[in-house]
Amino acid sequence: MISKVANSISPFYVMEVLERAQQLEQRGIDVIHLEIGEPDHNTDVQICKKAIESIRGGDTKYTHSLGISELREQLCVFYKNKYGVNIKPGNILVTNGSSPALFLAFASMLNPGDEIILTDPHYACYPQIIRIAGGVPKFVRIYEKENFQIDIARLKKKLTKKTRAILINSPSNPTGMLVNKEIMSRLTGLGIPVISDEIYHGLVYEGREQSILEFTENAIVVSGFSKLYSMTGWRLGYLILPDEYIRPIQKLQQNLFISANSFVQRAGIEALRLSPGKIDNIVLKYKKRRDVMLKGLLSLGFEINKVPDGAFYFFVNTSKISRNSYDLAFDILENAHVALTPGIDFGKGGQGYLRFSYANSVAKINEGISKLQDYFK
Ligand code: PMP
Repeated sequence: MISKVANSISPFYVMEVLERAQQLEQRGIDVIHLEIGEPDHNTDVQICKKAIESIRGGDTKYTHSLGISELREQLCVFYKNKYGVNIKPGNILVTNGSSPALFLAFASMLNPGDEIILTDPHYACYPQIIRIAGGVPKFVRIYEKENFQIDIARLKKKLTKKTRAILINSPSNPTGMLVNKEIMSRLTGLGIPVISDEIYHGLVYEGREQSILEFTENAIVVSGFSKLYSMTGWRLGYLILPDEYIRPIQKLQQNLFISANSFVQRAGIEALRLSPGKIDNIVLKYKKRRDVMLKGLLSLGFEINKVPDGAFYFFVNTSKISRNSYDLAFDILENAHVALTPGIDFGKGGQGYLRFSYANSVAKINEGISKLQDYFK
């Protein structure tokens, strides 16, 4: 007696690639992991120490459902310094990662059958989270030849009476592209709330990322500590919400999750205190890896229309080799022992593409490219 929603949900294909890669590794085969969207390095020790100190100090209880006030205050300072926007601690709700934050946002605004507009390709989990919240994802195609930017005229055709929000992600998983300033401004001019997933903010190597809050107050920001601070396993994220959403989402949070983890929130405050030098080193490291990956991809004969601005992905057109990205990813894994994510994970618009993640060391990236050179020969 499994529910329709649980039965019909798509798998997260990258996990299937990872699980098969792990089987090969158990047989002693060395697999190069370029599939995972997870930083390879550990969380900074300064953050870890703070969490341990906090546990030792007895910080092991539930917190306020909105999150501890010190973290929310620090986030306000962070947004003021980085984006020049004024937000109040009372408009922030701290969550166990940005995934629950997305669910809470959708659950607060969707009645059964209501629609959220998002791009195709898109982050793999978005449509499933929308469906679990009772909504319907409506896709607007974005194309490599348009640098994966949203075409506003195309998007407008998707608007209906049931449209509740437009969901964007900049820099994007899987394309690595920033949504450009003019498009952000035009999007916010449509009068529909924008949900902006800013989880990859900070990991930008070209240009500057912009928070949706620089353009409008009619928006929900979803973000978290997983990527820039390398804190995927800690589960810490947050929502920045217009006044009218605070109380409804707080009630959802109280019933579903109670609060985010206490000592993890303390660690989050410490993450916001990392010196600019430490942050610059992280960003520089990824930029170098991006450039190494770019060189490698070009050496394999792939065409890169535009070098990605941020995150840690290249979304590479492999349709000349195969239109079926799932079969191609598994064939490469079995024969070249390089794990890549099939583009189909990111929607129909991702078919014919493979996502290469450079959240791995320069040595591993080079080794992966060299194995692929042999495979393509
Ligand atoms: N949004 C995007 C675009 C992501 O890539 C991810 C992680 N892969 C998430 C949200 C979820 O991140 P977390 O729950 O770890 O904060």
